[in-house]
Amino acid sequence: MRIGAIEAGGTKFVCGVGNEHGVIEDSVSFPTELPEPTLERVIAYFSDKNVEAIGVGSFGPLDINRDSATYGYVTTTPKPGWNGYDVLGKLKKRFDVPYGWDTDVNAAALGEAKWGAAQGLDSCVYYTVGTGIGVGVLAEGKLVHGLIHPEGGHVLPRRHPDDDFPGLCPYHGDCLEGMAAGPSLEARWKAKGHELAPDHPAWAIEAYYLAQAVTGAILMLSPQKVIMGGGVMQQPQLFPLIREEVRRNLAGYVNAPAILSNIGDYIVPPGLGSRAGLCGALALGLEALTSRG
Ligand code: ADP
Ligand code: ZN
Repeated sequence: MRIGAIEAGGTKFVCGVGNEHGVIEDSVSFPTELPEPTLERVIAYFSDKNVEAIGVGSFGPLDINRDSATYGYVTTTPKPGWNGYDVLGKLKKRFDVPYGWDTDVNAAALGEAKWGAAQGLDSCVYYTVGTGIGVGVLAEGKLVHGLIHPEGGHVLPRRHPDDDFPGLCPYHGDCLEGMAAGPSLEARWKAKGHELAPDHPAWAIEAYYLAQAVTGAILMLSPQKVIMGGGVMQQPQLFPLIREEVRRNLAGYVNAPAILSNIGDYIVPPGLGSRAGLCGALALGLEALTSRG
């Protein structure tokens, strides 16, 4: 099989071609500009690739309701030019193939369940902590959409007692994304994440916020695996800090060995590493092909 994959990020687009085993054979990456020139580059890339289906995992919010007149659109993003843009429509005009279309984080959750850290499981939660914070959810073998799609990056955390940072979310101020995404970390400490030493107090506060969200996800969704990726999670010292905070928050109440004795294998980085997003899009394309192709 030859399946097209598009990881449509707010900062960069990655396009690739892969197969049903999750193997990416070729890929390119370019910065996200205004929608038209960006999609023209995507179309140019796939024009000689002869793919049988295309999966798109996109930054959002998105319309992923198949019954909606604006299915395939990016909706209320603050990103200039993209609000109300018909991404899928643009692609469909050029390539008449089955399409998978979902959030970047739902795609990553699906890819991780097929080929990565949640392989063989039918539930997982995938967090990305980067320029923003996003959450994808796989439950009972299906990606969760519900009313729109999960937006767990904007949950409201309890404030750390030593933190008076006001938060950066344009909608909510001190929601999780406003307090703990990469730009907030940078604004609070006046240094980029990768410039802060592993023992800097920034990381304990970062873990304090992320762990609250993970705790909520565990309590609400009972996932079999929690996967955390994105630029900020490149800091490996965050994982033990988050695990410890989650255990403290849960206080023994959730009686599962995965949490009580094996949390190191429960809250983990993406098994697919930096390929999680693109493999996720590939997984969406594969599903589109096998379910409708
Ligand atoms: P995006 O979210 O735009 O797709 P990333 O996941 O790479 O891209 O996230 C970018 C954010 O992550 C920036 O705020 C950046 O400062 C932060 N970041 C990137 N790499 C690191 C790192 N190694 N350590 C800490 N923070 C990082
Ligand atoms: Zn918010």
